[in-house]
Amino acid sequence: MREPTQAQVRRELDEGLPGFTPPRSVVVVGAGLAGLATAYELSRRGCEVTVLEAADRPGGRAYTLRQPFADGMHVEAGAMTITPHCHYVHHYARELGVEMDVADLVDSQFAYFMRGGFFGPDRDSIAGCDLPLTEEERHLDVPGMIKRYVTSLADELQPDIAAAEWHCTPRLAPYDEQSVYEVLRARGASPAAIDLMEPLFLEMRGGDLKSASALAWLRHEASPHSLSHADHRWSKIRGGTDRLPYAFAERLRDRIHYRKPVVRISQSDDDVEVTFLAHGRLQTIRAEHVVVTVPFSAIRHIDLGEARLRADKIDVMRRLKYSSIVRIYLQVRRQFWAGSAVSYSTDLPVRWLRDATPHGPGPRKILECLLTGWRARAVAAMTAEERVDFAIDQVETVLPGTREHFELGTSVVWDQQPHIEGSYILPEVGHERLMPVIRRPEGRVHFAGEHAGFEPNGGSMTFALESAARTVVELGQPV
Ligand SMILES: Cc1cc2nc3c(=O)[nH]c(=O)nc-3n(C[C@H](O)[C@H](O)[C@H](O)COP(=O)(O)OP(=O)(O)OC[C@H]3O[C@@H](n4cnc5c(N)ncnc54)[C@H](O)[C@@H]3O)c2cc1C
Repeated sequence: MREPTQAQVRRELDEGLPGFTPPRSVVVVGAGLAGLATAYELSRRGCEVTVLEAADRPGGRAYTLRQPFADGMHVEAGAMTITPHCHYVHHYARELGVEMDVADLVDSQFAYFMRGGFFGPDRDSIAGCDLPLTEEERHLDVPGMIKRYVTSLADELQPDIAAAEWHCTPRLAPYDEQSVYEVLRARGASPAAIDLMEPLFLEMRGGDLKSASALAWLRHEASPHSLSHADHRWSKIRGGTDRLPYAFAERLRDRIHYRKPVVRISQSDDDVEVTFLAHGRLQTIRAEHVVVTVPFSAIRHIDLGEARLRADKIDVMRRLKYSSIVRIYLQVRRQFWAGSAVSYSTDLPVRWLRDATPHGPGPRKILECLLTGWRARAVAAMTAEERVDFAIDQVETVLPGTREHFELGTSVVWDQQPHIEGSYILPEVGHERLMPVIRRPEGRVHFAGEHAGFEPNGGSMTFALESAARTVVELGQPV
């Protein structure tokens, strides 16, 4: 079977999959966006689809937290921002009647809080901070540094780096052997300049710039999804990101089976067998195909010994890295700080602090702390109460009055979210070689999900949905 190309998948989905003949029966493992979109496309074309989901809700990492907050406020634990180029999110939002609002980050007041003080990304503020920058960097603002070290390199690598369809050409390949840090240092960036630019490489947060693939990062920075392109066309889902998975779930109704963790998958020449837990009992169903959307961070809970996977697939399942992210939310009685829609990058363990309810009706507010990497893993080891207390202490140094105005708090530790166990893939040096192996179907066992995309960067709803469309196109081909 030949893998459909990225362009072919998009064309076929946009045209309504003309000439598509669905398989008779398919089991989909996981009701995150990839699983839901796969099941939606197959079931409306007459395929007998069964979705087995370990959790008690649809959406996986498209997860809106509505409890324990007062006044109907909500926050996003996972996916939040959608760019105008998130083709598949817009496609399904239109089709399912899900509405959008302008993204929070568009109007946010971004500043750094480092060495105990605030400063902006402009040249004068940076000059006043006595950071160990090079002589040339002292004359630049942060966007200027990004232009000098990042955009200029992406420009040199055009048209390959921003091609509509992702191919790792010989010109690009060497960048997959180098880390982001190595490339930035080789272009003359000082460590202090890298610290200032890093918050704006959002997708790398949680990753270590010293092990992250420079190629994946450059692809992102050269794309319209790069933070430097944020404008009023960037959006979020009105009422919460979970409106999108719930809209799919409404269409799929009882084809989704919640609290049914899959524990074993096997295949023969003629079919697959999928075994799952149902109220403490093991049950097995047969189908022509199975689509596995489980993140590789949690796939070890499924016995794949008889699934006929090739050795390199099993190897990649073990090797793929996921970033660690913790989000801690503090509900406060009222806004006690000056300015609106604050968004601070800090040198504290709480790397990012922002107003998570910038357009809320007030007077209450929710402050969100984002921790990544080893800092996230450190607070993951605390109890839930300790974590909130730790965050209050940290935020108090940035926004005095936090403890006084605090009402309640909660947190989401992505490494500990059952059946997910990570936030999104970290494309490390050498990632390009893993990608075709991750996506490749193994006979009747297919793979969709954020990690199985065409693009080297994950962490995006649209890439998860694209992987679903790719799998559906695959399923229309003979085995
Ligand atoms: C902190 C964070 C911030 C993000 N920000 C953004 C953003 O701003 N914009 C954006 O577009 N994307 C963002 N993302 C990424 C986006 O959320 C994901 O790429 C996307 O939701 C992944 O969908 P998926 O279907 O591949 O996986 P998931 O949503 O993880 O779905 C997998 C499903 O499989 C289920 N499962 C696992 N094991 C089993 C089993 N054994 N049996 C049955 N079911 C099982 C899980 O319970 C889960 O429901 C963010 C993610 C995180 C974590």
